[in-house]
Amino acid sequence: MSEPAASSTEPTSTHPDGDSVEARPGPAAGSPEDFDFVADVLADDDGATCAARVLRWLRDQMGTTAGMCALLRPENALLEGLVGLGVADGRVAAWSLPLEQRTHPLVLALEGTEPVAIGVNSVRNHPVDTPLGATSLWAVPLSVDDEKGPDSVVGLLVLAPSSSATAAEPTIAWAARILAIRLAALEHRRLRADAQRRQTEVDRLSSVIESVTDPILLTDADGRMLVANDHAEKLFSAEDWMSEGRRHAVGLNNMMFSASLFTSVEESSSPARREVPLVDPIEGHDLLYELLSTSIELGPGETGLVSVLRNVTDLRRATEEIEENYRKMRAAESKTRAERDRLNLILNSAQDPILLTDPGGSIELMNPPAERLFTVATGGDEDAERRVRTNDAVFSSFVSNLFAQQALEWRGELSFTDPASGDAIPVQAISSRVQARPGEDIGVVTILHDLTEAMEKAHLYEQVKRHSEELEEKVREATAELAQQNELLRRQALELEQASAMKSQFLANVSHELRTPLNAIVGYTSLLLEGLSGELRPAQRDKLQRIESNTTHLLAIINDLLDITRIESGKMPVEAESVELSELVHEVMVEVEPLIPKDAVEVDVHMAEDIPELYTDRKKVKQILLNLLSNGLKFTPEGSVSVEARYHDDNDLVSIAVEDTGIGIPEESQKTIFEAFGVTTRSYSGEKDSTGLGLSICRRLAAVLQGEITLQSDVEVGSTFTLWIPRQHQND
Ligand code: ADP
Repeated sequence: MSEPAASSTEPTSTHPDGDSVEARPGPAAGSPEDFDFVADVLADDDGATCAARVLRWLRDQMGTTAGMCALLRPENALLEGLVGLGVADGRVAAWSLPLEQRTHPLVLALEGTEPVAIGVNSVRNHPVDTPLGATSLWAVPLSVDDEKGPDSVVGLLVLAPSSSATAAEPTIAWAARILAIRLAALEHRRLRADAQRRQTEVDRLSSVIESVTDPILLTDADGRMLVANDHAEKLFSAEDWMSEGRRHAVGLNNMMFSASLFTSVEESSSPARREVPLVDPIEGHDLLYELLSTSIELGPGETGLVSVLRNVTDLRRATEEIEENYRKMRAAESKTRAERDRLNLILNSAQDPILLTDPGGSIELMNPPAERLFTVATGGDEDAERRVRTNDAVFSSFVSNLFAQQALEWRGELSFTDPASGDAIPVQAISSRVQARPGEDIGVVTILHDLTEAMEKAHLYEQVKRHSEELEEKVREATAELAQQNELLRRQALELEQASAMKSQFLANVSHELRTPLNAIVGYTSLLLEGLSGELRPAQRDKLQRIESNTTHLLAIINDLLDITRIESGKMPVEAESVELSELVHEVMVEVEPLIPKDAVEVDVHMAEDIPELYTDRKKVKQILLNLLSNGLKFTPEGSVSVEARYHDDNDLVSIAVEDTGIGIPEESQKTIFEAFGVTTRSYSGEKDSTGLGLSICRRLAAVLQGEITLQSDVEVGSTFTLWIPRQHQND
């Protein structure tokens, strides 16, 4: 092994990196091998290769079997393993020793520039071992300049010593110096490259930040602006020379920005988004920015905020416009939908078929009544299909008229066929063009109005009209006939009246003429019977008595006839006066007294107490009562005859009933007995008074008194004749 000798020439070489390497006198300086070794070490660009080369050289020169090179990392406060010899590389690379372990022999070794021998035990006592294991060590500080002391140390060479050498071997110191110089140079180069790279990155970052059109800022924890691009500067920085307004705007912006930054940071640690209203410092416009801020670490325990502001003024305006338009669109849409629903409702509820066709004539829409004409119902047969086709053809040709005639509306009467039944359906059709604007047709609407009913009605109306005219004609004819008959009847009535008057007159005359000779006959007969013409034989007396009886009877008939004639010809006027009815009845009872067969018939009178005074024709009432009472007595061989008078205030009538328990009147005769000579029954007391005209006269007299006579009778039970007259006769 050659000893490195101290160089007397102190050669100085200049490395391509510009590092000045001062070759200090070494133990073997000057040998070509040493020179090669130094050249190789200085040519190595990698620290680890360099160190490995030195370790290998030391092994070759000194017989050190194991060793390692560790570098100082002041920024990490560590001594880190770089490369080893005789130990696994991985172990060395993974090894590090914190510098804070100040009592560690390796840390202590760094405080000097001289090699230090370390005993086995002093390493063992420390928690951090060396990759070289449990062995005594030489720690050789890698110092660039001994005069500068520990500050010039860049690392350590740690060697397991060989038996033949000491730590202070000049060879080791020489090799360590060369390695230190090279490592320092490489570290210097690395730092410079790092600085350059960082500068490049900073430049690039700056240009990126500047090229971004959004304002970007970096602020510290107190909100101070550390970095800002031009756009951010414009918003948040002001110079003294700027206008008052601009400075004021910048002040406002800073206030708003800080406030929202503070809120953003408070709210969340993740990137926070929020809107910040700012002012354009130059134009003075209101601006709206979206702020995105992210917290970053600026250094140990120091945080900052990166804020990116995006101008969303136009975006917000556009969004609002879009929202407004969307809202309007929704409103229009719902209005359109409502309109469409309403139209559909109208369309579907319309009774008449309605169709919408496109300008080409194809049906686009139809309501249910139209579907019945233009679609085949489920289960429809071939006939139905044919009829639908015919209907289609009729309809299309009608609609085409609209375009052919250049008209906006076209009307006409068409005949369709009911697809289901085959019945003809006459319709009135009205087609109208639907135009988006004049000249631009978008469809045709057609309404079909079923005329079947209208035609039936018209037909019916015609029939009714014809019948009514016929009827009118018949009525006219009948009316004319009626008028003719009326005229005839009027004439007949006139003739009858005249005849009746003539008859009455005739009867009156005849009666009068008859009475005179009859009276003469009665007179002479009674003279003969009185024996004025001599004594009569019994046979003669008998004959004369018969003549007298019959003549008297005839006279009575003639008197009655005269009465009837007078009543009918109105020659028996009503002479109304105050009448006390009880007095009148009493008079009548006195007059009929001789007719009462006392031993067989009982007669009584009942007068109600409330009967007021009457105003009527006394004589006529008396005549009626006399007749009724004499009839009662006449037809009651035995039993009773009673007179009962009442007043009826509900109708202001007075009734006088003559009731007997006599022979009664059969039902069939009850009407005819009131007619002249209707029914006569021979009286039991003789036939002298029976004329068959009494009741006829009574009825006529009752009518003259504005009253009537009613009858209730049963054969073998008796009869009740009741005279009803008003209390007060009304003069005509
Ligand atoms: P006459 O002079 O015959 O009585 P009237 O006109 O007074 O004529 O009566 C017509 C007839 O009515 C009588 O002949 C008798 O048949 C019947 N008639 C009238 N009054 C009574 C009576 N109270 N009871 C039964 N029959 C009567």
